[in-house]
Order: sequence, then C-alpha cells, then structure tokens
Amino acid sequence: SRQEVSYFGAGPAPLPTSVVEAGANAFVNFNDAGLGLGEISHRSPTANKILNDAKANLSALLDIPDNYEILFMQAGGSGEFSAVVQNLVPVWIERRRRRAEVDVKKAQPDAEQAEVDELVFQRLQKEIDEELKLDYLVTGSWSLKASQEASRLIGSKYVNVALDARKANGGKFGTIPAEDSWSLTPTKKEGGKGSAFVYFCDNETVDGVEFQQFPKSLEAQGQDAEDERLVVADMSSNFISRKVDVSKYAVIFGGAQKNIGVTGITIAIVRKDLLPSPHRDSSPCSPPPNNSLYNTLPIFNLWIAGQVMADLMAEFSAQKVSGQEEVANKKAQLIYGALDKFPQVYQVVPDASVRSRMNICFRVSGGDDTKEKEFIAGAEKRLLQGLKGHRSVGGMRASNYNAVPLENVQKLVQYLEDFATAQ
Ligand code: PMP
Repeated sequence: SRQEVSYFGAGPAPLPTSVVEAGANAFVNFNDAGLGLGEISHRSPTANKILNDAKANLSALLDIPDNYEILFMQAGGSGEFSAVVQNLVPVWIERRRRRAEVDVKKAQPDAEQAEVDELVFQRLQKEIDEELKLDYLVTGSWSLKASQEASRLIGSKYVNVALDARKANGGKFGTIPAEDSWSLTPTKKEGGKGSAFVYFCDNETVDGVEFQQFPKSLEAQGQDAEDERLVVADMSSNFISRKVDVSKYAVIFGGAQKNIGVTGITIAIVRKDLLPSPHRDSSPCSPPPNNSLYNTLPIFNLWIAGQVMADLMAEFSAQKVSGQEEVANKKAQLIYGALDKFPQVYQVVPDASVRSRMNICFRVSGGDDTKEKEFIAGAEKRLLQGLKGHRSVGGMRASNYNAVPLENVQKLVQYLEDFATAQ
C-alpha cells in the first residue's frame, strides 16, 4: 500500500496521499457535476476558477509581486530551455531597435522613414553580431543542457558560459566556484554592454548541487533599466521549498513533477514588461500569453498543482513557503547527518558548501559496484524505493521533495545506520 512504500524518486515524485485520493474522484466526477477534470473545457467557469485559485495560492506562497505574471504551460523544464531564448532574445533586440531608432532620428531629423529603417537595420545587425550575449552559469547537467539548447537555437558565438563548474573540480560537477572566478559579460557600469540575460539552475537535480543564496554579482537586476541583468532561473527541483525574492528575477520556471504536482504542467513566473505585448506587433511568433490559455491547458494537472499549493497555504498559513522551508531543511539535515556519521561507508558527492536540500547524492563504499548493489537491494527489502542515482552519474540519490513525509525520511535514516553498522 502507499503507507508501506517510501519513495525517493527524483521526479515524478510522491504527492500528498490526500491530493492523490481527491484527484482520483476529481478525474471521474468533479464536484458531482457528472464530468471529470480531464473532460471539461479549459475555458469553462470551473476551469477558470481552478486557474485563478492556483495563481492566487502560488502568488501568496511566494509573495509574488504584482508586476509578475504566472503562466501555466506544457513542455516541461526542457521546453523552457528553448522558450527563454526564444522570448528574451527578441526582447533584447526590440530594446536595441528602439534605442537605435531614437539615435538615428536624433542624428538625422529630416530623414525619410525608409532611410531611418535602413540605418536602424544596419546598426541592429552589427549590434546583434557583436554584442548579443547570453550568460550561462553551468553548475550541473540541467544548466549544461539549457546552455546547449541556447547554442543550438542561436549559435554558440552568442552563448557565454560564464561558469563551467566542472573545470575547477576535475571535470565533474559538485561545486560552485567563487563568484569572482565567473566571467559574466560586463555590464555598462563595468565598461561593457551587458548580456541579454544570465541563466542559472537553482538546484541541479542530477548532481545534487543547490545555490545556497542568490548570487551577489547578479544583484544589480532591475537597477538600471538601460543595462539591467535579466536573471533567469530554473527551479524545477526546488520550487516552493524555500523563500525566494521573486523581484530579483526576470523569469523563474519549473516543471510540476517534483514539488508541485503531476507532470504535464510547467510554471513560469515572468516579469510583465518582458511578455510580448499584444500591441507590440502582430507577429505570429509572439502571441500574448492569454492567462495561460494560449493552448489547451491540462486542467486536471493544474488542479493537482493547485491543491498542493492550497494545502501548503492551509498548513503553513502566515509562514507561507518559509514553513515548508523549515520542514525541508530538517529532513535534509537528518539524511546528511546519517551519511556524515559514517564517512567510511557513505561519501556525499557535492561539496558541503553546495549540498542540495532536495536531491541528496552519495556513493556507498567509494562507489564500489557490489556494495552499491547491496545497498539498493537492502533498501528495496524495506520498501525504500527510487534511491538509485541518475544513470549519467551513478551512485545513490535520495530525493527529499516537499511531499516526502518525515516518517519516510526517518525510515531511510534508520536504514542508513543499520546498513553502515553492518559493514
Ligand atoms: N530542469 C531541472 C532542474 C530538472 O530536474 C529537470 C527534470 N528532471 C528538467 C529541467 C527537465 O524537465 P522536463 O523533463 O520537465 O523537461
């Protein structure tokens, strides 16, 4: 039964049993309306209420400022790797175009519009060629993938890998080198032209590396409208697990399937001035987001995510996400505590300064294959499941997402101790 199994998979991940059970009913006959949530129109009043409630709860949980839009979408975290490039590069180009137009008109007030357009076009081409840069902080496999997608879409010439954390760590992820070693594109204040955005992954699911705080060198965001650093963060695997100052970001995104719900929903929190304006142009490439109804939104999946958020609000009320943060930290400390107690048997993979609270990656007996198999087999016997690390890195990974109950963490801790003492 669900009560007997402790699941530590990295995503899809466990959901609160109460939500899953209510979801089973909602899938068949929602609110006794004779239809399930997979069957109703995404434009119906019922769907509209589910959408607005989910937005209101997320907004309350994370204290999202009014100048941000919450978008529910599909295509997962990976879809956002492309979407941020496809949407923010045009924002950069449009800003440069407007600036060029002002300058050209000032320099040649009597020029015909066609001439202005031509001069603006020439300048824009030059600026794109020489100055368009996207900064990526590569601290694990997901930010690496995102940077590769940016290179695929617009060319590696325009992608500045400002940090490749493997370089300082013998070719492996597991640290976040000091900020003064990063090579971010210099901003105007620093004598440069700035980048279109800086991208990082707040929690690297495969490598167990989490930023412990917002990077200091990105703090200038929004301070100089001409030359701001737009910050984009992938929070797929630590969404709503700690307090976030949303105002520091241009875009925060994440797939639902770890901390929020079932897969099929991606959340993007986007600063409103970066969204395509319905008036800006009528290009079919930049549709306005239409309150998340640009395409058919999976209302059942949205409802699940909404329930999880509503339950967190109900549980932690005034504390909001900070309440969940305390719980997450406590559970992570229990697991790391048990691992650190037996350094001969367990070796945590990432550096102590960047340990993820969500994905706890470790080796057994220095990565000895027989011992690791033995560890997994023993865990399975106790119905502790999903502990195998990502296939690209091997080892163990205990994912400590929001819906993993404390009791299950305690069962894991007991097993870690029993296995270690039997060695
Ligand atoms: N980013 C992170 C941090 C992830 O953990 C994942 C999925 N594990 C992704 C992006 C990709 O998400 P999706 O599979 O939804 O595209």
